[in-house]
Order: sequence, then C-alpha cells, then structure tokens
Amino acid sequence: MIVDARRALPADVADVDVCIVGGGPAGISLALGLERCGLSILLLESGGHRETERSRDLNRGASDPRNSHEPLEENRRRQWGGASAAWGGRCIPFDAIDFQKREWVDSSGWPLTRAELEPFYAQAMVLCEAGEMSFDAREALPAARELVPGLDGDGVVSHPLERWSPPTHFGTRYRKRLAASPRVRVLMNATCTHIQLG
Ligand SMILES: Cc1cc2nc3c(=O)[nH]c(=O)nc-3n(C[C@H](O)[C@H](O)[C@H](O)COP(=O)(O)OP(=O)(O)OC[C@H]3O[C@@H](n4cnc5c(N)ncnc54)[C@H](O)[C@@H]3O)c2cc1C
Repeated sequence: MIVDARRALPADVADVDVCIVGGGPAGISLALGLERCGLSILLLESGGHRETERSRDLNRGASDPRNSHEPLEENRRRQWGGASAAWGGRCIPFDAIDFQKREWVDSSGWPLTRAELEPFYAQAMVLCEAGEMSFDAREALPAARELVPGLDGDGVVSHPLERWSPPTHFGTRYRKRLAASPRVRVLMNATCTHIQLG
C-alpha cells in the first residue's frame, strides 16, 4: 500500500516490525528483502513520485571543505526512488582494499570485509538488473581471451569488467510490488525529522 502522508490515517502508521527511512535503492531493497522474510514494514519517503522545487530545497546543504563537491541538491534526488531516478547505472564491486583502514584516507575502514559483503552482491545485481555477478572477462567472455593482446603485465590488467543497469529506477521498477504487498506500507511526503526509540 502506498499512501500520501498528508492524507494518512492513524492506522496507516500503526505498529510495524521495521520502519525504514528513505525510499531510494537502499530503502527499497531493504523493504523487498524484509518483506520476503514475513516482516511488516513502514517505509517513509520524504519526496513524492517526482522531484519538486520544494523537495529539492530539502537537499541543499554545505560540503566540508567548502566547495569540495558539486551542489548537493544537484547530485541527489528527494523523491520516490531517490537518486536512482537520475543515476547512470554503472555497477562495479568494491575491491578488498576499499574496506581497509588506510592512514592516508580520512574515515577509512569499514566494520565489514569484502568477503562478508560478497553474498549480497548477487542479490544487488538482480535488483539493479545489471546481469551476472561476474566482473572478470576471463570468466564472462572466455572466448575473448586477452582483451588487449600484450597489454597485461606488471601492474596492468585488462580483465576487470564493469556492468551496466538499464539504468533501473528503483521507484518505478518496484512500486507495484511494494504497493501490492499486504506487509508493506509506504508513506510518501513523509520527512523524518527525528527518531524516538522505545
Ligand atoms: C546523476 C547521478 C548519476 C549516478 N550514477 C551512478 C552510477 O553510474 N553508478 C552508481 O553506482 N551510482 C551512481 N549514482 C549514485 C547512486 O544513485 C546512489 O549511490 C544511490 O542512489 C544511493 O542509494 P540510497 O538509497 O542509499 O540513497 P538515495 O538514492 O539518496 O535515496 C535516499 C532516499 O531517502 C529519502 N530521504 C532523504 N532524507 C529523508 C528523510 N529525512 N525522511 C524520509 N526520507 C528521506 C530521499 O528522498 C531518497 O528517496 C549516481 C547518482 C547521480 C545523482
């Protein structure tokens, strides 16, 4: 069920097992996964079906250091589907080193390893409609052999692949499935301003 928060009834926000904030690729993927496990879900989305000047204003902000990033409201989407309404669809898994603490990279070091994430990549590829979880040309294109003959050598490899989603707009692609689920309630135009536990 998908409801506009401005017209929601108390029953639309009754007790649920899980409340998810944000209807972008992360929130929608989580809702689909938890729904399959039999949990009831409330998904709060700040925007509506399309971005408006008003919702776009909510994405304005400052980057630190100043001007180190393009304007924040131009690189995110405050709407159902989040930035997948605008993304390019390029899919590449992280490398193991991306998860490690590196002195020369601020805030580096993830609380999980690439190996722990590995099983979820295949599910993400399905949701992104980006093909098989195979990013090595030697596996994916066995007939191609060496992509650029003679290029590979010390420190140079030509076998890693990137894959591309159509690009999938998570909002339009999964809207019907979520709307039809008896266990999911999506509240649109519902901006979360604080979280109160218990
Ligand atoms: C132009 C462009 C091109 C891109 N190309 C690529 C690409 O080729 N490959 C790639 O991997 N990535 C790409 N990205 C990035 C990719 O789109 C994001 O990494 C991805 O969408 C992040 O998903 P998310 O669900 O974490 O966040 P978002 O997509 O940002 O979704 C967050 C959601 O939460 C909602 N929200 C925010 N605040 C609140 C609140 N307080 N209460 C309720 N809801 C709230 C927002 O409205 C939004 O729907 C691109 C992005 C852009 C803008």
